[in-house]
Amino acid sequence: MPDKNPSYQKLIQEIKQCQKCPLKKTCHLIVPGEGNIDTQIMFIGEAPGAKEDKTGHPFVGAAGKFLEEMLETIQLKRKDVYIANIVKCRPPHNRDPFPEEIQACWPWLEKQIKIIQPLLIVTLGRHAMEKFLPGQKISQVHGKALRRTIPELGEQVFYTLYHPAAALYNGSLRQVLIKDFQRIPQVLKIIKKEIQKQKLQSSFSSQPPEQESLF
Ligand code: SF4
Repeated sequence: MPDKNPSYQKLIQEIKQCQKCPLKKTCHLIVPGEGNIDTQIMFIGEAPGAKEDKTGHPFVGAAGKFLEEMLETIQLKRKDVYIANIVKCRPPHNRDPFPEEIQACWPWLEKQIKIIQPLLIVTLGRHAMEKFLPGQKISQVHGKALRRTIPELGEQVFYTLYHPAAALYNGSLRQVLIKDFQRIPQVLKIIKKEIQKQKLQSSFSSQPPEQESLF
């Protein structure tokens, strides 16, 4: 397998010098994302908050701690997965990122996904979900794995979760998020089974393998 690290490091340096949208002028540090680039799971949130802006690392505040706690419940640590955001600079006063900011920042995330090639992208919150699953309602698709073809990325499996920050102080949402989180290993297992099945099918047939809908 080719070494992803040189192209990844080059990309991170490019992101850190980005000035493509006005958010660069108001943020303190660009937060490109970090973690294991050989992971099977990539978590994608909305935007850096105050603590992330100060440190340059994603999900380091209370929501990040909650995310780490949930990772531990499925026997994973932060260093086992990759964590990034839809926009890499903190919007002033934590406002929602504007569509043009999301658009300007998208090529960075696209390149990160292309290098990492995760089996599963877990979106955290509505904004991350909307980027990949436009027109969906988070209340309807949370806890479900959906396969979608993204023009720049090809076919990819997405799993939608509520944002840990939204669930942190909301008891019922918190329980829903924890329950959805527990399904991640099962979702990964099904994806791997499907890949095996497709490999087997394609080794016996010159026809492209049939695409099953996920779950
Ligand atoms: S938010 Fe993204 S596009 Fe805008 S300046 Fe920061 S890195 Fe560049």
